Amino acid sequence: MTAVKTALVIGGGIAGPVTALALRKAGIEATVYEAYAVTADGVGGQLTIAPNGLAALDVVGAGDAVRAVGLPMNRTIMTDGKGKRIGEFPGLTGLPPSRALWRPDLYRVLHDHARAQGVPTEYGKRQRVGHLASLLHDAPISLVSSNY
Ligand SMILES: Cc1cc2nc3c(=O)[nH]c(=O)nc-3n(C[C@H](O)[C@H](O)[C@H](O)COP(=O)(O)OP(=O)(O)OC[C@H]3O[C@@H](n4cnc5c(N)ncnc54)[C@H](O)[C@@H]3O)c2cc1C
Repeated sequence: MTAVKTALVIGGGIAGPVTALALRKAGIEATVYEAYAVTADGVGGQLTIAPNGLAALDVVGAGDAVRAVGLPMNRTIMTDGKGKRIGEFPGLTGLPPSRALWRPDLYRVLHDHARAQGVPTEYGKRQRVGHLASLLHDAPISLVSSNY
C-alpha cells in the first residue's frame, strides 16, 4: 500500500484525465494541469482506439462511454485520393473491434467522466521544471501526459 495520497498530472489532453482516474482508483487524488487556458472542445480529427486501449478505459470506468461515441472497425482499407484501393488491414483475430472516433468526442467523454468522478482540471497552468519543484511539496508524484 502506497503512502502517496496526491499527484499532479501534467497535460489535460487524452491521457491526462485517464491517468488521473487510474490514480484515483489506486487511492491517490490527482489534479490535472493543462497549459491552455481553454478546453480543446471541438479540436482535432479522427483517430482509432485498439482493443487494448478500450480494455484500459474499462479499468477506469470510461470504456462504455467511449464505445458509445465510436464506430466499431473490423478492418481498415486504404485508398488513394481517387478511391483506388492500395491496401487492407484485417482486424485482430479473437479480439473485439477497434473503435474509430472523432478526437473531440473522445476528449469530451473522457473529460466529462473525469469531472463526474471528482477529478479537478486547472486550465492555463503550463508547468515548468522550476514550478514543478514547488508543487511537488504538496504532491510527491508528478506524471507527464503530454506529447511535447
Ligand atoms: C488539440 C489536439 C488535437 C489533436 N487531434 C488529433 C487528431 O485529430 N488525430 C490524431 O490521431 N491525433 C490528434 N492529436 C494527438 C493525439 O490526441 C495525441 O497524440 C494522443 O491523444 C496522445 O494523448 P496525450 O494525452 O499523450 O497528448 P495530447 O492529447 O496531445 O495532450 C497533451 C496535453 O498536454 C498539454 N501540455 C503540453 N505541455 C504542457 C505543460 N508544460 N504544462 C501543462 N500542459 C501541457 C497540451 O496543451 C495538451 O492539452 C491531437 C492533439 C491535440 C493536443
